[in-house]
Amino acid sequence: MRIATGLGYDCHRLVKGRPLIIGGVTIPHPYGLLGHSDADVLTHAIIDALLGAAALGDIGQHFPDTDERYRDADSIGLLTATVGMLEQHECVIEHIDATVVLERPKVLPHRAAIQARLTAALGLADEQLNIKATRGEGVGFIGRAEGAAALAIATISRPLPGARVDTGVGQSH
Ligand code: MG
Repeated sequence: MRIATGLGYDCHRLVKGRPLIIGGVTIPHPYGLLGHSDADVLTHAIIDALLGAAALGDIGQHFPDTDERYRDADSIGLLTATVGMLEQHECVIEHIDATVVLERPKVLPHRAAIQARLTAALGLADEQLNIKATRGEGVGFIGRAEGAAALAIATISRPLPGARVDTGVGQSH
């Protein structure tokens, strides 16, 4: 078995009148994230971390923002498609850790809902996914509430190249 890790980073602009969707959960707020899809910054960072760990490129390559199919797309659907891609490559997700960086509103009251939505989409147990949140402390584009960012790191396991998956079926003795 081989272990690999992948890094994900994303940021989106905050604008008035868009829904604020973080980890598949809509958080009531006058400002939301702007993007071609639903601009779910946390889910996008997790997708890129998973693709990185599996050495499968990046989110822009698989779900291009020039493609009308992905206009206002539910990013949880993109995450589910990514999990399917990893399965095809015999990659097993072991753990994901992620941080949302958002000045306001507070993410903590929504963390349990985000955790539930993402573990369901990823097929993970609670101890395999950790979601954290922090602020921009009034500094830079995040601190001025002009945008939000997210970072994620994913750990996967996969069979060694050339290794046969032992199903225990049909073995001769
Ligand atoms: Mg994005």
